[in-house]
Formats: sequence, structure tokens, C-alpha cells
Amino acid sequence: MSLWERAKKVLPPVAARSTQLGIVEGHGSYLYGEDGRKYLDFASGVAVCNVGHNHPEVVQAIREQLGKLVHGGHNVVYYEPYVALAEEIVSMTGGDTMVYFSNSGAEANEGALKLAKYVTGRPALVAFSGAFHGRTLGAASITTSNASFRKKYEPLLPSIYFAEYPYCYRCPFGRKQENCSMECLGQFDCLFSRAVDPSQIAAMIIEPVAGEGGYIVPPAPFMQGLYEICREQGILLIFDEIQTGFGRTGKMFAYEHLKYRPDIMTCAKGIANGLPLSAIIARRDLMEQWPAGAHGGTFGGNPLACAAAKKVVEILRGGGLDNAKKMGSYLLAKLNAFKSRYKSIGDVRGTGLMLGVEFIDGEGGPNGNLVHAILDYCIGHGLILLSCGPHKHVIRFICATTVTKQEIDDGLAILEAALQTAEA
Ligand code: PLP
Repeated sequence: MSLWERAKKVLPPVAARSTQLGIVEGHGSYLYGEDGRKYLDFASGVAVCNVGHNHPEVVQAIREQLGKLVHGGHNVVYYEPYVALAEEIVSMTGGDTMVYFSNSGAEANEGALKLAKYVTGRPALVAFSGAFHGRTLGAASITTSNASFRKKYEPLLPSIYFAEYPYCYRCPFGRKQENCSMECLGQFDCLFSRAVDPSQIAAMIIEPVAGEGGYIVPPAPFMQGLYEICREQGILLIFDEIQTGFGRTGKMFAYEHLKYRPDIMTCAKGIANGLPLSAIIARRDLMEQWPAGAHGGTFGGNPLACAAAKKVVEILRGGGLDNAKKMGSYLLAKLNAFKSRYKSIGDVRGTGLMLGVEFIDGEGGPNGNLVHAILDYCIGHGLILLSCGPHKHVIRFICATTVTKQEIDDGLAILEAALQTAEA
């Protein structure tokens, strides 16, 4: 019996899986199936194994730590990998920050919202439509990438207000580049005058590149304007860097593509290359106002995960980031060439190795059915890709930062055959 057949009997359907693949091993850009086949993995466990599956140096760092300490409990004691990783992250983020470690992305976002509310004393929050911030009740309250994440769980957190995300390919204000007046920034006048006085808003939380919502890169003037609005109104700006962080966009953090750093940011996914770890990174002056006991947790900052994360940083700095930039540009150029050849491709976008291809139907509408057919073909031919977007109409490319040109070419050959079959 396959893993899938066994799993059906004991695992609930609630955890949606994009494939029925049973896996026994992973190395670099490849997963090895129980069916004896090798799969090129352009999903990286949903942007987690950013330095490739079972990177030997990360495995070695975990082994070394395993011989010393498996759990200390950060509410009980201090231990070396925890403090050392915090030191590293503080130095990477300007030297005037502090870090709190948790286990998952959602948990980090919960903590970030609590921190913002605590230090500002304000009740309201602003999130962006199409965002995904996690599945716990607080994180689901700021998530609108798909109604299924909220269905039957309402009422959720009160005093959450939503603004439109600048999805320029399908502008929520119906504009094109030639008649754009940055309505995405203008919308705040309306929000502040009609729905919520800005003095009541603790924070705005935004993904610096939308992940689950469709791999959308917001225009830099929007991000600059958002920063200025937050500054003017005393609103904290939180970046959810859970998917963008730790090398995914070709820089350690996506905020480095901008001219400023957010007040608070959250990281998870790629931070420890597969071990559960997340972090809230915030301005020191904010963290210092969050007193002992106002937040906490049993497992956050596990020694093995912190040791792994420290090694991930080293690998990214030692060439991973450069390779992500180089391979990202290479893949982007290839995908743009596909766009000029295949009419079902409406848009190609992204940054670093966080790239998305939006598929359209004959009228230019989102074409989730076609994406479904393409992904099926790819899996059948040894390539793992994932979709995103509210209609599952975008294919996302989340290669490991260690990916090679040959691996990209191999993957694209399968994708091109899938495109030809699907369009025929
Ligand atoms: N925020 C973003 C941008 C994400 O992509 C995700 C996960 O996909 C989360 C938050 C939630 O992270 P987790 O699943 O670890 O709770």
C-alpha cells in the first residue's frame, strides 16, 4: 500500500495536499519517491527548504546540537544556539532590533499583532485583501487570500480593516499603467475618514511580496507611500516576511529591496530549512516595552532549529543569495520567453527565486483549470510545482537557492511540454 492509501485511513481531509506523492528522501533540488522515481522539486516544501533538501552542512549542525541539548525551554534557561542566532539576526537587521522566536509563521504573526497592540495601546489593525498570514484565529482574521480559510470560523478578531493590495495586473481600482493615479495609496484617505480613525490603528500588516495571494510584487512607490502614511499617523508597519524571508527574493529579507526597514517583521518557513522555527524581529525600543510574561511559549527557539538556522544564514551569505539572484534572473528571462510563445500566459512576475506565472483564458480571466492540468502533467513527468492566487491560476516557482542552471532547464523542458499539451 502506498503512503497515500495508508494516510487516507488515518489522516483527516482537512490538511489539503497538492499531490498524492509519497516521499522517502530529499537531497538538494530533488525528492525521491516511494515509487522509486526522482522528482525535481520547485516547491521546496512551500518555500521552506531554501538551501535545498537535507543540505549536508545543515544536517551536520543539527547532529552536533543533537548531541548537546534537544530542549531547554526559553522561558526557563538560556542556551547558546538561541542567543547566537538572535545576535546574528539583530546584526543582519541593523543592530537596533530584538528577536523573539516561536515555532510557526502564524504564531509569529499572532505575536507581532500582540506586540503592536501592546505598545501602541490602539485596538485596530489594517491588513490587505488577498493576503495570507496563517490559520490560527488571529492570523485568519487578517487573511483574505481565500474565503475557505475563514468559512465557519467567524466571528474572528474585531476591528480589522482591509485595504486593497496593489495587484497591478488586475488593478482593484480598474486602472491601467497609463491612467494610474496611485489609487492604492489614495484609498487610505477614504478608509481613515469613513471607517477607522488612524489614531485607533495599532499596525498595518503586509506581505512585501504577496505569496499565497498570487506572487505579486507591489510597486516601490506604493511601499514608500505606505511607509510615509504609517509614519505620519503613528501606525506601526509590520512586514510578514514568512515566505519572502531568508533568501527567497535574492536578499536575506524582502525589505532590503526598499529604502526602509519595517517596525516589526515576522519570519518562518526558510529560516531553519525545515525545522520548525519562526521569529518576530522588531525595533529594540518596541521590544523593550513588551514586559516579561506578556508573550511566551514552550517550544519556540528549539536548540536544533536555532543551530540549523545559524547554518542557513552562513550558507545564504556564502553564495546562496548570489545564486538566488543569478538563477532568479535566468528563470525569469526563460519564463518571459514562454510568455511570448504561449497565449495562455498573461503575466510573469516576481523577484529573486519567488517567481509566478499567471495563466489566462480566452477573455483574459484567471485560468485555474489550465494550471491544474499543467501541474498534473508536471507531476506525472517528475516536476513538482505549486499554484497560488484566489483562483489557483498562478504557478509559482520556489526553487532552492542552491538550484543549478541545468536543474532549471530540466524543469522548464517538462513545463514547456506541459504547456504544449495543455494548450493543444
Ligand atoms: N504568512 C505567510 C506570508 C505565509 O506564506 C504563511 C504560510 O504559507 C504564513 C504566514 C503561515 O505560516 P505557518 O503555516 O508556518 O503558520
